[in-house]
Amino acid sequence: MTSSKQNTFDFAPRGENQLHESFKQGGFTTLVEIPTPPRQVEFDTSAKLAAEIVQALEQERGFAAGLAIGDKTLSIDSHGAASFADAVVPKSMRNSSVLYISGRGAELGETADSVTESLASGFRNLIMVTGDGYSEHSRNRNEKSPCVDSIHTLTSLKCSDKASEVFPGAVVNPFKYNEMDLLPQYFKVVRKINCGASFLATQAGWDMMKLQEVRWFLNIRDLHVPTIARLMLLTPDLVKRVLSGDFPGVHISRDFKLILENEMRYGYHQFAAAQWRRLQLQAAGCRLMGYSGIQIYGIEVPEHVSTVRSKIEEALSEFNDFNEWKDAYIAHISRADMAPFSHRYYLYKNLFQERDAARSIVNPETIAAPSLLEKLRHGLRKAMFSKDDQLAPDEHRLFKKIFAGCARCDYCRLPLTQYVCPENCPKGVANGPCGGGAADGTCELRDTPCVYAERTRIAVWLNEMDSLEERYVKHPAEASKVKSV
Ligand code: SF4
Repeated sequence: MTSSKQNTFDFAPRGENQLHESFKQGGFTTLVEIPTPPRQVEFDTSAKLAAEIVQALEQERGFAAGLAIGDKTLSIDSHGAASFADAVVPKSMRNSSVLYISGRGAELGETADSVTESLASGFRNLIMVTGDGYSEHSRNRNEKSPCVDSIHTLTSLKCSDKASEVFPGAVVNPFKYNEMDLLPQYFKVVRKINCGASFLATQAGWDMMKLQEVRWFLNIRDLHVPTIARLMLLTPDLVKRVLSGDFPGVHISRDFKLILENEMRYGYHQFAAAQWRRLQLQAAGCRLMGYSGIQIYGIEVPEHVSTVRSKIEEALSEFNDFNEWKDAYIAHISRADMAPFSHRYYLYKNLFQERDAARSIVNPETIAAPSLLEKLRHGLRKAMFSKDDQLAPDEHRLFKKIFAGCARCDYCRLPLTQYVCPENCPKGVANGPCGGGAADGTCELRDTPCVYAERTRIAVWLNEMDSLEERYVKHPAEASKVKSV
């Protein structure tokens, strides 16, 4: 299964997009993730540390690798990702690297500016994300944490004269274990691809059945987009941070936590060895499942870069057979349940039992119907507001506030969103959920269920599921012709 193509990839400058080429040739790329630092950390200090990792990677010629520069992942108040990437990534490596563009705390025009800035610095592989809303200031204080939905950035780019210059990507978070959290994630993936996403990166996770689920879903739906799995190389500190919710949408199950605690008991070196082995198994599994690469978070010192190379290459040649890999992986995790919640919803029943998605059975669990209250609310709103997307925003203002909980919008989207106001989502996203919700479906920023659970239940009840994949709901600023990319 290890392809010789993956060893023919280096950083010599070429006119072509090396990441795109690697995908086309069926290579397997390793991206090392470096988050853009928060503003409270001095730019030069962080850039110097990152540059050392980059230099170490640059020396690994012949290894299919690049960088993934995260945007606003550590803090909403971060240095600009494009300027940070410009300072640390050598020009010859930009075509093999990806740059994230986050809508966290941004306005529509700002993500457009970030795309322009990234292109000017020679970064063409851009992953659009809505962004985490987690903030010590907003959690559970009913404050808004507005974000530009990745769908808007992708659409704005698709309609712009920059479209041909960018190889756009998007993110999928399959690590959801309630039906009403998982289904909207997949509806949104289809929407992202419809809006121009040409490759996908997953959220970080350790549940390999979920990573297989993504590949099966894409294959079954004939969505042949290259996919990169984001993996985390855990340290004891990272374990604590994941468990305390520092990485919205990233979950550690109870069983997996016990394994990690056990590994920590024998000292740092044993713990580190177990993490490298887990990373190897995950990388090899991803390759066998049809992933085009992995993105590793947690490489903090330059010395780890050559270890990454040797471990990944070793793993890719160790496993050529899916069943052998599966047995090794299951033994390594001691048959632990990787689902972090009592619900354990997977889209397909026979993940891991079959290698071929075509022979899989869609999970026949019935899709939950809306509650009586939800049905009544929907009927009432429909009777009152069915034309409000075409009316002046002030029309029915008071009634919308009382019966739909609406905030003040310049453009009413109720008839387009199953009458569930997108402004009830603290991020204000109207085209599908973010990936940051908790394992039990609770909103990332509130102790209430994600608004997309109700909207999806109503859409399924009304047989309007297509609208969740196909209908583009404009950003309110678009109605007033905000500048696009
Ligand atoms: S309501 Fe849903 S989409 Fe909105 S912030 Fe919460 S989890 Fe994300």
